[in-house]
Amino acid sequence: MKKIKILLTFDYELPLGGATNYHTALFEPTQKIFDQVGVSGVPIVLFADIWSAIRFKEWDLEGYYIPFCRQLQFAAMHGHDVQLHLHPHWANSTYANGRFVPSPFYSLSSFKDGVSGFSIERLITEGHQALEQICREVKNDYQCIAFRAGGYDVEPESKRILNQLYALGVRIDSSVIKGLRLTYEYSRIDYSHVPPASYWNLSKDGPLNRIGPGDLLELPISSMPVTLGDVLVRRVAKTWNRKTYRSRRYQNTGRGFLLNFGSRRIGSVLRSALNPLSITFDKEYVGYRELRAVVKYQLKKYDWENQDLFLTAIAHPKSMGSYHVALMREFIDRMREEFADRVEFTTYEGIRRDFYL
Ligand SMILES: [Zn+2]
Repeated sequence: MKKIKILLTFDYELPLGGATNYHTALFEPTQKIFDQVGVSGVPIVLFADIWSAIRFKEWDLEGYYIPFCRQLQFAAMHGHDVQLHLHPHWANSTYANGRFVPSPFYSLSSFKDGVSGFSIERLITEGHQALEQICREVKNDYQCIAFRAGGYDVEPESKRILNQLYALGVRIDSSVIKGLRLTYEYSRIDYSHVPPASYWNLSKDGPLNRIGPGDLLELPISSMPVTLGDVLVRRVAKTWNRKTYRSRRYQNTGRGFLLNFGSRRIGSVLRSALNPLSITFDKEYVGYRELRAVVKYQLKKYDWENQDLFLTAIAHPKSMGSYHVALMREFIDRMREEFADRVEFTTYEGIRRDFYL
């Protein structure tokens, strides 16, 4: 029997629709995660929303850019991994009276014809360079090799996006959640047709949901499909446990991007209720039982007699209060209890060595 290798990944970003206190919104919850994984002795991955830092370097150096860099550098120095997360709308967002005002250009593909001088290639290259520069100040052999698209959104311009990432040395993508479908005015995701494997080789010409020659590796966020029955049970639980769930929610002083720009058709809202359940720590209605169900699904579906099983968890520090940090800890402890030395917590550096990328 092979190993179970777990990536604990965090999209390290502000509430994208606005935030009044960056410490509450990002830096404090991230510190709590560092504290916990320090005690547990496991590495994590921060997918850093680098374009927020590029803009805040001009807007608010002391209040955001410096603490942002310090946390990435802390991660790089302490055996954690820092990789590229790209929310491109920062590039043409504005700042007035001490507040940022997000632009609606949510997906990289929306920059396909260039917007305010920003092309897809420029956004990726400058983001990648900025991230490597920050991390190399403390770790001179640091390399940015993995990517997660903001909002999981890579199509329809995957060819340009992946080619540019590849040219810069990125070899792993983790933007796919199998079965995920979302339709917003500025973003459209459809991962309903993906290879029947736990990971797959990509072509740098895309698309993400097709097996290619292996220029890059797709390691999707681990999930399981949800039935209508599950949705109804969750609905009832949400009503029944309303107070408990509310008390679990982290008050981050911010607002979501989609509150500003999220108008959706009713069909899309209904469909997204059936979106898959991921291994995630930042939802108030997810407990260890749900996380174990996803792990069970993955163990059953994919052959781990003959090859390692890779599990990718996703969470957002901005949504993590004490309930969610405790859930993460419980997940780490119980996976170790159950699988002992067959479970290993890894990073993309580790994955690169495993696959000789
Ligand atoms: Zn994000």
